[in-house]
Amino acid sequence: MKFIDCHCHIAENFFYKKMDFFVNEWDKLGIKKIGAMATNPKSTKRNLELASKYPDLFIAGVGRHPWGAHKFTIEERESFEKIVCDSRAEIIGEIGLDHYFVKEKEKYPQQKIVLEFFLELAQKYSKPVMLHMTGAENDILDILTTFQLEGNICCHWYSGPIDVLRKLSDLGCYFSINPAFLRSKNHRNVLKFVSKEKLLTESDGPVKFQGEPGSPSLMPYLCEKIAEELKITTEDVSNQIFLNYQAYKK
Ligand SMILES: [Zn+2]
Repeated sequence: MKFIDCHCHIAENFFYKKMDFFVNEWDKLGIKKIGAMATNPKSTKRNLELASKYPDLFIAGVGRHPWGAHKFTIEERESFEKIVCDSRAEIIGEIGLDHYFVKEKEKYPQQKIVLEFFLELAQKYSKPVMLHMTGAENDILDILTTFQLEGNICCHWYSGPIDVLRKLSDLGCYFSINPAFLRSKNHRNVLKFVSKEKLLTESDGPVKFQGEPGSPSLMPYLCEKIAEELKITTEDVSNQIFLNYQAYKK
């Protein structure tokens, strides 16, 4: 079987320092594509470098995560305007808003400015985006309706309200399922309300799952659990997700 991890932070030292070891391990497990998510200029640079070194495996994401939006500078803006033209920069992400883990409300306007800057780039260069939206699902929906994005949108680890889930789904968004769906009712709703052609799989590694660093190695297990939930075979899930990822990153 072939597996996809559309959202993993491979530029983090946990993976980066032992990359050859991990790549070999993922190859043995049938992990075919990994969406390398950026959180800042450093991980953006590493993602591009890794996509050059392992072009068949990594899809490079570029961007600034909402947790660090307050650190965004004019120089960074100019640098990202150039980076996004790089043919290896296939996805704009991880970008978005976070009004749940980020408690300081004074940081929210800057999150919005940074998100809109990256959505403008996505619109201009027709690139797909990977969105983080914890606690800000409605705000994300409002912002998305002000753009005409040609590239696809993926809502990562969605755990917001059902009505917003339905509206994002009506916009044609993809949704990436994290192994955390097993213990999150809200996240499980994605499997209930989104068509299976719009589902993707992710680890968000090295974010922990059951006390251990998450990684693409979790994808076979995740597909098995999704299959149980959807009452189809694991092979059907893995084939479907593979097709979905090709469609998403077009
Ligand atoms: Zn992430």
